Amino acid sequence: MKQYYVVLRSVLRSQSHLRRYLRRCRHCRIFFLSHPRNAGRSDLRCPFGCREAHRKQRSTKRSVAYYATAEGKAKKKIQNGKRAQGAVRAEANPPVTGAQELHSGMVSYVAMVASLIESRRVSEAEILQRLVRAMRQHSMARRRRMDYVVAQLNQHGP
Ligand SMILES: [Zn+2]
Repeated sequence: MKQYYVVLRSVLRSQSHLRRYLRRCRHCRIFFLSHPRNAGRSDLRCPFGCREAHRKQRSTKRSVAYYATAEGKAKKKIQNGKRAQGAVRAEANPPVTGAQELHSGMVSYVAMVASLIESRRVSEAEILQRLVRAMRQHSMARRRRMDYVVAQLNQHGP
């Protein structure tokens, strides 16, 4: 968290035009950069979980409200019947797990911030590519360090 603010602060120092997008999550109060189209809004939630949680809550509420209607009740009865027969298969769009949703929220946030910083459109695919590359480099560096340690041990003994 401290590291996150160090990065955020240094980004805002070098990219002062981004300061107007600095917002605070209305739920957890963390600072983050809003999408330019939401600049100035004070009712935003952060992309680190709160936005997702809220979206999920709303959709649960919607479906609870729907199943309380006569139409919804009838539909549920049918669904439950099918389920009892084991006929219900995974839906066409299988529900995404929470972690995946959170990650895709983060990737789109990073893509948005990168677009703002680089003043060009940085796609989520590009961010993912960069992440993969960075992780590969990271593990290569670690391997080199280990090789070095092993070489040192071989030379000088433990
Ligand atoms: Zn939050």
